[in-house]
Amino acid sequence: MTELVESLELCDECRACLDGCPTYKITENIDFSPIGRIRASKMIFKGGEVTHQAVASIYSCHECYLCPDACPYQIDVPEVVAQSRVELVKRGLGPLERHNKVIEGMRKLDNAVNGDPAKRLDWLPEESPRQASSTLFYVGCLASYLVKDAAISSYLLLKKLGVDFMILDDEGCCGIYYHEVGRLDLAREKFKENADRFKKLGIKRVILICGGCYHCFKRLYPELLGDMDFEVVHIVEILPALLRERGIKIERKLTEVTYHDPCRLGRLEGFYEEPREALKLCGIKVNEIPSCRENAPCCGGGGAVRSVYRDLSLKIGAGVLDQVSVGPLVTSCSFCNFNFSYTARKIGSDKRIAYITEPILGALS
Ligand code: SF4
Ligand code: SF4
Repeated sequence: MTELVESLELCDECRACLDGCPTYKITENIDFSPIGRIRASKMIFKGGEVTHQAVASIYSCHECYLCPDACPYQIDVPEVVAQSRVELVKRGLGPLERHNKVIEGMRKLDNAVNGDPAKRLDWLPEESPRQASSTLFYVGCLASYLVKDAAISSYLLLKKLGVDFMILDDEGCCGIYYHEVGRLDLAREKFKENADRFKKLGIKRVILICGGCYHCFKRLYPELLGDMDFEVVHIVEILPALLRERGIKIERKLTEVTYHDPCRLGRLEGFYEEPREALKLCGIKVNEIPSCRENAPCCGGGGAVRSVYRDLSLKIGAGVLDQVSVGPLVTSCSFCNFNFSYTARKIGSDKRIAYITEPILGALS
């Protein structure tokens, strides 16, 4: 923490990070840039009065990790923002009202999207198998309620590829939102509840389809609770090997897609080849947007920003859709998928958004 606070002094406001920052690009307001966030964090860590703009600056960051690489000193602004949010909570200045509404829903319904827990498995294309397995397919709130095609296609694809797995009919939330807004107390409580439950069920491997859930189980659970007893994998990590091993037969030649790299799977984990390889193995041509891989744009939804700055999320999402010229926009994060689909609907775009397992399953069925 001291090191992180000290790193703030390195910033000489050279502006090298501004071009890439999605919130600055849209607003052209320095408060909504890495520089603004560093200024705000200094204010917060000094313990003096914190302005309304500083709070907005901290809670409007997507934690997309585009800025550290642009910075000559590699200042870790997203981590600075995460720590600043925790400080704001300690001082009673965070989370914001709309965050608290989401938290209220999560406490009541155990999901982040106000879904009816009794309908959590409505997406399931067959009767709940209730099979026991040491591998859990953890669907996540977004796919369970709002991006059901991602849940359905992933479930059917895993089955088609012969993966032995179970699902939970009362899965609940991974808890990332608590962590994102700085409520580490609630995050710790939720993480522990899930980890204890997995242990009781004998879960040794968890397969995720959301970049947020993946980041949460893989990085944030160990950060708050220490080493976990289960392995955390994203579906794109295992798809190329499964497709090769199972000797798949391409039944339907699909044309082409444009792939979007989710921040938490690309820049944070380096999963650039795996999704492209899985698509190509199924005969699907993969097109790229002008800024892709390490420079891929944020979808506009992450970092608990969407619930407070909806318009900002929409404009950032629209900017990405503008870059897509061929085929559906395919992503491997159900949250990105949701924000892009919502954006397309809102701006009247006819661009189609698909979760990565949809075209793959389509090619094999
Ligand atoms: S993490 Fe992303 S949104 Fe946040 S300051 Fe850096 S570039 Fe901007
Ligand atoms: S690139 Fe680094 S040093 Fe330059 S303004 Fe951005 S955060 Fe500050």
